Amino acid sequence: TRDQRWLMRVAETGQGLMLVHLIDRSMAHAAERMRVDFVANASHELRTPLAAILGFIETLGDDDAGGDAETRNRFLGVMMNEARRMQGLVDDLISLSRIEADKHRAPDDAVDLAGLIGEVNRVVKQGPGGKDRELIVTIEPDVAAVAGDKGQLSQLLHNIVGNAIKYGRAGSPIRISMARSGANMIRLAVQDEGDGIEPAHLPRLTERFYRVDSGRSRAMGGTGLGLSIVKHIVERHRGRLDITSIPGTGTTVSIMLPTAP
Ligand code: ADP
Repeated sequence: TRDQRWLMRVAETGQGLMLVHLIDRSMAHAAERMRVDFVANASHELRTPLAAILGFIETLGDDDAGGDAETRNRFLGVMMNEARRMQGLVDDLISLSRIEADKHRAPDDAVDLAGLIGEVNRVVKQGPGGKDRELIVTIEPDVAAVAGDKGQLSQLLHNIVGNAIKYGRAGSPIRISMARSGANMIRLAVQDEGDGIEPAHLPRLTERFYRVDSGRSRAMGGTGLGLSIVKHIVERHRGRLDITSIPGTGTTVSIMLPTAP
């Protein structure tokens, strides 16, 4: 091909080392840039609820303001929400760094994904927005166990089903299906009915802190890290993540995972 011929010429003229050095340097630059952006974003996300909590503490400490019990309770409620937001964010940050630290070792426990779906659904049904949603689960009879890390797969399911609840239309059902794909993969799909996602956003959804609608995500208690965590878990499992969406109709998140040997 033309690329190969070009590389041969680079090698012959002795420019190869220079080229490798340049590529190396630009990759190091990109990695450093991402790290700096990540720290800046995480700090900003933590500082906002922290500022709110400090503001309310100050007001409560002031004798003139927040004197009656009703106002005090209202302030405490807001502080509780903000503290929960910080807790969610810190939990997600810890998860991300743990998954990343383990990324070179593919997990190999045999995990009963079908059983896990049942467990996660029970928890999600109890959570915010879960009560009025129907979770329709279809599992093909021949699905095998997947090779994985049970805790991480549970978190993956939580994040995806949780998003379907958060961003799907109130009262609409969520369809979860599981089937074999080829000889040694399992395909898991979670489909919601909702506003969907415009195509331009799709490639960026798994970036840390990327949100299509920040206000909506925050109002629903989102951290902007859920799909980034999903992506890292899928990569660690040597699987594949695919998100397709029809604006105005709904979104399907599908995940391929290798079966256990
Ligand atoms: P968040 O905590 O904001 O939900 P995620 O990383 O899980 O963060 O998702 C990133 C963004 O992708 C969300 O803020 C939302 O805009 C969009 N998104 C994720 N799942 C869905 C879905 N099922 N339907 C529509 N939009 C979604």
